[in-house]
Amino acid sequence: MPDDTADYGVRRARMVDDQLVARGLRSDDVLAAMRSVPRHLFVPPGLAAKAYVDAPLPIGLGQTISQPYMVALMTELLEVDVRSRVLEIGAGSGYQTAVLAEVAGEVYALELLAPLAERARAVLARLGYQNTHIAIADGSSGWPEMASFDAVLVAAAALQAPPALLRQLSDGGRLVMPLGHPQRDQVLTVFHRDGNEFRERLDTRCRFVPLVSEERVDGGRRGETAPGRQVVAPPVRKATEEEGAVMKTVAVRVSGLVQGVYYRASARHEGERLGLRGWVGNAGDGSVALHLQGDAAVVDAMLGWCRVGPPAARVSRVEVSDARPDESLFGFEVR
Ligand code: SAH
Repeated sequence: MPDDTADYGVRRARMVDDQLVARGLRSDDVLAAMRSVPRHLFVPPGLAAKAYVDAPLPIGLGQTISQPYMVALMTELLEVDVRSRVLEIGAGSGYQTAVLAEVAGEVYALELLAPLAERARAVLARLGYQNTHIAIADGSSGWPEMASFDAVLVAAAALQAPPALLRQLSDGGRLVMPLGHPQRDQVLTVFHRDGNEFRERLDTRCRFVPLVSEERVDGGRRGETAPGRQVVAPPVRKATEEEGAVMKTVAVRVSGLVQGVYYRASARHEGERLGLRGWVGNAGDGSVALHLQGDAAVVDAMLGWCRVGPPAARVSRVEVSDARPDESLFGFEVR
């Protein structure tokens, strides 16, 4: 095995200062973990020299090892300590697993692609980690046998947090996950469980590979409800007539830098493109209000768009509540 030479140690220290501390990360435990885990052992051998650059890198099978900053940020947002049990979805290279293993008690990681899971397992074993457990499975269902978890990290994007993952979170627990369209920018979102309520906070814009699900939408899990929250299981695709579309109507309030940035015009364009009925308008307090009505999966797709908005927007908060369908609406309009 390539040894962790002083040179790699120096690059790692520089990575922590230039990419993490410089961007405002402050958790001593997380920074110490990032200083110690040999990232170059988790990338394909040919890319070891690039392991400490400020970017994601390919790890094969169309997947990527996340950018160091994203790994550190997600770990910091999880607020874990040595007593925490953590569930990770999308172990990929196993690098994030190792960083979590440095700061948490036990780490349970799921990976859909067997070759990646096996390689991650081997590297973690060689490095002597005893508190990591990797299984080959679809992470959308979580790991019920090992639940509950104080923290859940999802390293792949979907329009909604999978209901099973929210359910397996212990009271007071945190789930961090990129939400939004898989092929576009997403928003790193932190869910905080308080009893049966889930508070949602948006963090940074990001871009992840899609959370792939082995389950079909019509496999019986559709519309499954997590405690206190209505969630539709991914993958989301446009329902066809014969499937019998589940309809949904929501009132949305989008805050942040959302006025004067073409949010309304872009939202109308997106709403029309998706074939939704509804409207978008500016509210007096600087936020944008929307009414969305249509196929539940399509409404969810639009909510994914709302979390990001047009390029000049900076969305800080999206509030969604159930609303009554307005049968007089035709198409999607700006109000
Ligand atoms: N943190 C990892 C990121 C890997 S990319 C790293 O830094 O190496 C995301 C990973 O999620 C990929 O390996 C992909 O295969 C996996 N993935 C996608 N959908 C999944 C699912 N439903 N269940 C488990 N793993 C999934």
